[in-house]
Amino acid sequence: MSERVIPLVDHRAAGLKALLPARPVAPTGLLADTLGRPLRDLRISVTDRCNFRCNYCMPKEVFDKEHAYLPHSALLSFEEITRLARLFLAHGVRKIRLTGGEPLLRRNVEDLIAQLAQLRTVDGLPPDLTLTTNGSLLARKARALKDAGLQRVTVSLDGLDDAVFRRMNDVDFPVADVLAGIEAAHAAGLSRIKVNMVVKRGTNDHEILPMARHFRGTGTTLRFIEYMDVGATNGWRMDEVLPSAEVIGRLRAELPLVPLDPTAPGETAERWGHADASGRHDPALGEVGVISSVTQAFCGDCNRARLSTEGKLYLCLFATQGHDLRSLLRDGASDADIASALAPIWQGRSDRYSELRSTLPADTRQAGRRVEMSYIGG
Ligand code: SAM
Ligand code: SF4
Ligand code: SF4
Repeated sequence: MSERVIPLVDHRAAGLKALLPARPVAPTGLLADTLGRPLRDLRISVTDRCNFRCNYCMPKEVFDKEHAYLPHSALLSFEEITRLARLFLAHGVRKIRLTGGEPLLRRNVEDLIAQLAQLRTVDGLPPDLTLTTNGSLLARKARALKDAGLQRVTVSLDGLDDAVFRRMNDVDFPVADVLAGIEAAHAAGLSRIKVNMVVKRGTNDHEILPMARHFRGTGTTLRFIEYMDVGATNGWRMDEVLPSAEVIGRLRAELPLVPLDPTAPGETAERWGHADASGRHDPALGEVGVISSVTQAFCGDCNRARLSTEGKLYLCLFATQGHDLRSLLRDGASDADIASALAPIWQGRSDRYSELRSTLPADTRQAGRRVEMSYIGG
């Protein structure tokens, strides 16, 4: 068994105070950080709880009966989340992703979706509203989520082999129920459904081809994610990372694939289309993607902000501290105040951990101090 690094300090408690600038800053939708990156994507964690114990995210040894989850009073209410989301949209956000923990465990999450679906971007459009889920409750909830205004969904699934999947979620959850959830999402009319598979060498890399064959031509886009050194508890080792280039190599040995152009700036996945007999991409067969978070950093156009379950704003998945927005909300700050406080936070952002990872000596990567992915969301 690999060694585990157990966090000694609860970094959820530490937070940076969000300061009100001396003069109000009216949102223009044009915020840029110190590297010129705009703010476009807001990921909101709606719970720090999960019914799975994926070893790479919430290992059982750490997230056991003794683990102290946030009390309900610490969580942002739906009204607080919606209010912040509205101000982020005014600053230029176009896309909102609900995550967690397992977002479908938050009671009545469809009510939050209904509130968020009413908001508008600076272009007067509804935000691109999506959600990442482990799929365990999707069969039951897909219709209500769609009716509330959810447009699309990403389901995490690490293999088709039932024994492998049960081992990886570590709560003996069957793969058939997640597949039923994906079916239900299609049936409910959710569009552009994606499946994310975290690849760990030696654990589930033999599932790469079966997964690609299974989802080819089904309207579901499968994406392979490099296992990342997020958080402080998963005992990450570089030798368990299977580089995306190797994933593509293995796929192309069996399935014809052609490279596709990115659809949007800041897109994290490199796209590959399934090709027909003539070697051209056949849209009916769909595509796969690879997300090379470790071997090919994409910080250069990272436009993502993360709002934790208790209202701290994180500027990077690998950040050690967040900016406390909940205090502003609960101390009675006005919308103008909060919008003004958000601007300098984004403008001061210089995070680019993945680009620097290989140049940082191991003892300065702050591995013991990083917040968990289940807390700030993926
Ligand atoms: N519970 C939901 C789920 O699993 O989809 C949402 C939250 S989960 C933290 C979001 C995404 O992060 C999932 O796709 C998960 O596979 C991914 N993830 C978690 N830990 C990871 C790690 N160490 N490396 C790469 N991806 C990870
Ligand atoms: Fe739960 Fe998602 Fe983390 Fe797995 S990856 S433990 S499903 S939050
Ligand atoms: Fe964005 Fe941080 Fe990931 Fe770089 S390491 S892509 S800045 S979240």
